[in-house]
Amino acid sequence: MLSKEEQLLQSYFGYETFRPGQKETIDQIINLNNTLAVMPTGGGKSICYQIPGLSMNGTAIIISPLISLMKDQVDALNSYGIPATYINSSLTQAEQQSRLHDIGKSRYKFVYVAPERFESSFFVNTIKRIPIALVAFDEAHCISQWGHDFRPSYRSIVSNLKQFSNIPVFVALTATATEEVISDIQQLLRIEHVINTGFARENLAFHVIKGRDKTSYLRSFLAEHEEESGIIYTATRKQADSLFEQLTRRGISVAKYHAGMTEIERKEAQSSFIHDETTVMIATNAFGMGIDKSNVRYVIHYAMPMNIESYYQEAGRAGRDGEPSDCILLFSPQDVQLQKFLIEQSMMDDSSKQNEYRKLQEMINYCHTHGCLQSFILDYFDDKNAEAGCGRCSNCVQRQNKTDITEEAQKILSCVKRMDERYGVTMTAKVLKGSNDKKVKQFGLDKLSTYGIMSAYTEKELIEHIHFLIAEKLVATEEGRYPTLRLNQQSVEVLKGKRQVEMFTAPIPTTEEADFYEDLFSELRALRKQIADEKNVPPYVLFSDATLKELSRYFPV
Ligand code: ADP
Ligand code: MG
Repeated sequence: MLSKEEQLLQSYFGYETFRPGQKETIDQIINLNNTLAVMPTGGGKSICYQIPGLSMNGTAIIISPLISLMKDQVDALNSYGIPATYINSSLTQAEQQSRLHDIGKSRYKFVYVAPERFESSFFVNTIKRIPIALVAFDEAHCISQWGHDFRPSYRSIVSNLKQFSNIPVFVALTATATEEVISDIQQLLRIEHVINTGFARENLAFHVIKGRDKTSYLRSFLAEHEEESGIIYTATRKQADSLFEQLTRRGISVAKYHAGMTEIERKEAQSSFIHDETTVMIATNAFGMGIDKSNVRYVIHYAMPMNIESYYQEAGRAGRDGEPSDCILLFSPQDVQLQKFLIEQSMMDDSSKQNEYRKLQEMINYCHTHGCLQSFILDYFDDKNAEAGCGRCSNCVQRQNKTDITEEAQKILSCVKRMDERYGVTMTAKVLKGSNDKKVKQFGLDKLSTYGIMSAYTEKELIEHIHFLIAEKLVATEEGRYPTLRLNQQSVEVLKGKRQVEMFTAPIPTTEEADFYEDLFSELRALRKQIADEKNVPPYVLFSDATLKELSRYFPV
């Protein structure tokens, strides 16, 4: 025997079985328990309130910050024969009046509204006097100031709604919720039941790419994925504009989306992407909230975003259809400076800024960890279902090349100690290198016993090592704009030789190897010149020096 809910699932939506968490959420709601459902993007949150809405008396009100999504949801429900409507600022005054009139007559099972709607007393008075089935908060993390997309108007309606006597149950839904956000939502909406299916997306492969020229990486990636649909996120509008121009100039067909464009331009870009007329979308984070395009095969971040919440939400727009998809982050140290600048520029108070710096540090750690990237994200969200390693991410795949760097780690940590735990990454690297930097001398750091103890390394390699130690929590950083390095319990274990440290990078080349690559590089350049002369084109048109250098690395010594 099918339950009533399963019957509704099949007869209205045509699906055979519930996905994880759906049934439990639906049961709680039907039993009139306020409920929060935390499920990954594409997990099927809509059905969690749509099925109770169908089986309960009265109208279900869904509050959603996404005007773009309301119409799609309503169209979908109408196509299943379910009476549904939405009210938002995209409608004429007359149309709003007429819909509101029908709502007052209880003609709809589902009504989608933006939070601002509750500022209208006409609307509020209408829904106060009709039977309500439930009130659902979609994208509920917007309620919480700990969330990455806080909307004050969203929060303020909660107290407003609590005065209604005709709301039997509240539902909150989100894909992104840290413990802080979850408990904030719980408190605000008096929710006792949280259904959390975990965040893992088995079809996504995460990659962090460092030390590459971003544009040339993109060009070759796009050439290999011509037929596939993907999103490239930039950190700023300016970056989006310039990348759009660069790629367009090279004859690559791309669309662009950011808040600096007119509404018409944005609509056009979005529609051509959704309908697969343009396969690549270059966008800021203004793009994507509530866009339900299932066949996005990759999401590339051209620059590191501000925190893991935003990253996972944006990257999670890949592969909603469950097919294997890639999430690639192109990291450069400048990204960190840009994000710090954005935090400094923001209107936040000091303690909120501090909180943003803390989150930013976790994002930086993600870029430097050598552990499984998927597990890193799941740990961040305190997801207890986290598996040991996904086997798909760039770190899991590269894991073969392990190098023991315990001795290096000990040198770095003793240097941090000698520097009285008062300096940051760059200065520590300079001291280890034995740099002639003015500041090093000025602070008397060249007198330390650890000055120059790792002079065989470049400063860049040393910085990379230190970031790795931070990411692995083998050394701590003071939060803030200029974080200083501090020893922690794990550092002490490493220093005492009680803990081994392994890094997954290729070993640093010996002098002999370096000579070999240098020679190979010159030979490749000569070859390039020869071909270029034959074709009568300048050599750099064929390959850049950077590409040749990288190519030469593929040859065994
Ligand atoms: P979310 O809001 O969690 O991101 P949606 O509610 O938009 O996800 O659902 C994502 C997709 O999964 C939709 O196309 C939806 O129709 C589909 N879906 C939802 N539940 C099921 C189910 N039980 N079986 C199969 N497909 C489902
Ligand atoms: Mg949704």
